[in-house]
Amino acid sequence: MNILLPQPVEVEAVQKLEEAGHTVITAPDPQKETVLPLMKNVQAVILRTGITMTRELIEAAEDLRVISRTGGGFDNVDIQAATDNGVIVTSNPGVNSISVCEHVLAMMLSLAKQLPRLDQAVRTDNYKIRYQNLSRDLSGKTLGLLGFGRIGCRVARTCQAIFNMRVLACDPYLSDQTKEQYVELVTFVEKAQLCRESDVISVHVPLSEETRHALSAAEFALMKSDAILINTSRGLVIDEDALVEALQNKVIGAAGLDVQVQEPPDPGSPLLQLDNVLLTPHSAALTNECVIRMATEAVDRTLEALAGKKPLNVANPEVLTTSKWQHLKES
Ligand code: NAD
Repeated sequence: MNILLPQPVEVEAVQKLEEAGHTVITAPDPQKETVLPLMKNVQAVILRTGITMTRELIEAAEDLRVISRTGGGFDNVDIQAATDNGVIVTSNPGVNSISVCEHVLAMMLSLAKQLPRLDQAVRTDNYKIRYQNLSRDLSGKTLGLLGFGRIGCRVARTCQAIFNMRVLACDPYLSDQTKEQYVELVTFVEKAQLCRESDVISVHVPLSEETRHALSAAEFALMKSDAILINTSRGLVIDEDALVEALQNKVIGAAGLDVQVQEPPDPGSPLLQLDNVLLTPHSAALTNECVIRMATEAVDRTLEALAGKKPLNVANPEVLTTSKWQHLKES
């Protein structure tokens, strides 16, 4: 069968497809005009984030069976159009949790230990900075997690195991039964208490109307003056203007931001001027290992469906009940 890659994926994933006897077609670029004519004869698309699978693209295919996302989200797939055309959509939620968790830890440690500042001092002949005792220990401190899903839970476990941190979490969507499972690990609290009591706050909620600006001036005012805030979720979850003000006025101590409201930030953004901010380019999940994992797992989902098995993580399960897919067996 023909498998379309609108953007290249890692060689390990391509090899898997070829070993299974499929023909891999890689688009020269992910522009709609380039991808549209390639859709006609493909049975599957392995989809990264550089193009949206619109109804027009889906309906240009005569025999499309599967769209398999390399990551966890479906934002760039018209799920309804896929369902209307009997196309299975799959993704891999959680595939990047380990990598994002490690990034959170790296940011937390880097800010607590003041690594960028100390590194700069050594390079500029300021070795005596060591006597200022700028670094702080995380051991025994309080971690506050806004959102306790896949990543939040992993960060909690790691910080408790490594640093013996006390963990607070705010997640109003978890059932009491789910919360019960974590009594040894975390105390569930309201957002205000989390802000007041945490030494490090890490944000792990999806962006929605409700979570937009979930942390703003009112929340920063509650936080400790040396609190470290980490955001690896989405830029708009934090009111960035209010954050800049809070950092400038030392209302909170420091922030580690893998995501920003504008990516990349405008060259004039005040964030770039602050020395108590650590910035990374939305790269928490883009480790060498994780991109291979994302691509090969997307291939696995595709191979499952093409081999007559129900793939894991189907976004539109209603499509599986149609006559086209009733023959699928459990994986
Ligand atoms: P998840 O769906 O497993 O968990 C999200 C949790 O947030 C859920 O438990 C949900 O109940 C909770 N939640 C929703 N609204 C809330 C609210 N108003 N207040 C408190 N909790 C709320 O998601 P995840 O896999 O843990 O990922 C979290 C986010 O991280 C994703 O939505 C994504 O935006 C982001 N992410 C970023 C990267 C990166 O490269 N920086 C990579 C992966 C994921």
